[in-house]
Amino acid sequence: MRFPCTGCGACCWTINRHESHIVRDDPEHPFYFPYQWDETGKCENLDADNKCRVYDSRPLLCNVDGLIDALRLDRKTFHDVNIKSCWELADEFKLGEDARPVMIPAEIYAETPHEDTGFL
Ligand code: SF4
Ligand code: SF4
Repeated sequence: MRFPCTGCGACCWTINRHESHIVRDDPEHPFYFPYQWDETGKCENLDADNKCRVYDSRPLLCNVDGLIDALRLDRKTFHDVNIKSCWELADEFKLGEDARPVMIPAEIYAETPHEDTGFL
């Protein structure tokens, strides 16, 4: 079960809010983030179409399932925490229902085999 991201882009508009967690000097660290953001907090990698220019090699900080694998977190728990953050951003930016990821029932996780996201 992959994270049900809607692709709204709001987390990339507000990457500055993670500044206190970001690690700049250790590429092996799960919170390594080598990029900058503009005065609004928007990541320099977001293009005019609201897409990440480095999506296939984006940092773990930007990859919920990659972080789950790297840190061996509980998938349902970490998904739920992040889904609620997405809801808050969707509300803050008035993005509407389509931008809000759907909360997935626990039984679906239990029924769905772990998917290798390629980080381990
Ligand atoms: S805020 Fe949530 S739903 Fe929107 S792009 Fe980021 S992870 Fe996906
Ligand atoms: S690197 Fe890509 S996914 Fe990460 S914040 Fe920047 S635009 Fe978003």
